[in-house]
Amino acid sequence: ESIIQPQATDAERAAESALRPKQLEEFVGQPKLRKQLQLVLEAAKLRGACADHILLSGPPGLGKTTLAMIVASEMGSALRLTSGPAIQHAGDLASILSSLQEGDVLFIDEIHRLARPAEEMLYLAMEDFRVDVVVGKGPGATSIPLTLPPFTVVGATTRSGLLPAPLRDRFGYTGHLEYYEHDELEKIVVRSARLLDADLEPAAALELARRSRGTPRIANRLLRRVSDYAQVHGNGVISLASAHAALELFEVDPYGLDRLDRMVLEGIIHRFNGGPVGLSTLAMSIGEEPETVETVSEPYLVREGFLSRTPRGRIATASAWKHLGLSMPADLLS
Ligand code: ATP
Repeated sequence: ESIIQPQATDAERAAESALRPKQLEEFVGQPKLRKQLQLVLEAAKLRGACADHILLSGPPGLGKTTLAMIVASEMGSALRLTSGPAIQHAGDLASILSSLQEGDVLFIDEIHRLARPAEEMLYLAMEDFRVDVVVGKGPGATSIPLTLPPFTVVGATTRSGLLPAPLRDRFGYTGHLEYYEHDELEKIVVRSARLLDADLEPAAALELARRSRGTPRIANRLLRRVSDYAQVHGNGVISLASAHAALELFEVDPYGLDRLDRMVLEGIIHRFNGGPVGLSTLAMSIGEEPETVETVSEPYLVREGFLSRTPRGRIATASAWKHLGLSMPADLLS
């Protein structure tokens, strides 16, 4: 497991729940989305109705699950959690839907991964608050139409473009989460440190923020590791020096690049003279799965301008050469 991967491991989910902001007020960053969401929720409260269905799109680890929980708590509703991949058959969704109470918030993570029949059942449920429940099997099966109490779907997806238009259209509001700025991440780690009872010096907080790839989940994870380090190797105070030492131990460099990222860049530069090189060839040359390279490493390398994707393959940019302490051959500078 890489320390900079934006996805959470199962074990990590438990540690994360303690750090989740519970109210919109406490949620740091995403100012536009926060204001929009506040309006949507307040209007619903004024009408005494359920909130419109809400779609949240953005990369992993930026707070979609947290926001879904906040929606439920702001509305004083119960939250039900599921995900696209967890719903194998339409019947699974039917049983979730038929057990909803009035006002419940149903969170569907990775909603773009719902199977087709479940997706179609969801349109109907979202639009008309109806579901057809199939009872029995084979030729004797009958379909019983069921009216559902009003509820709110909060869907999360890494890219709203992945959703079929009919499903996308059923959401009254779509919020886009952006990567966080350093000052926002700094606030997040300061808050988390307080909740964890960790003694975090301001300079160390800024350093963690800088190395967290714009992602609160990574910021909190780095905080836990530097906190371990400060306890084992010091008096527990997370100073800039102990943060540096811990981050060096975990091979997270000043730009938030880790071992995998550097292997990718070094691979392109040393083995393919800076590229272009195809994804699978590159991945194979460094002994990684193409999917890992593509989903864990590349998005950040591209965002930070270290790597560019071209139709002919991946290229290491001049900044990548520089970052690795190498000078880019003159014939590649164009
Ligand atoms: P995934 O889709 O991978 O589950 P996510 O977008 O749902 O990711 P969350 O699980 O909501 O992300 O957030 C990950 C962690 O980051 C949580 O511990 C949460 O407390 C923290 N976090 C996210 N956003 C914020 C924020 N704005 N302020 C404070 N903490 C945050």
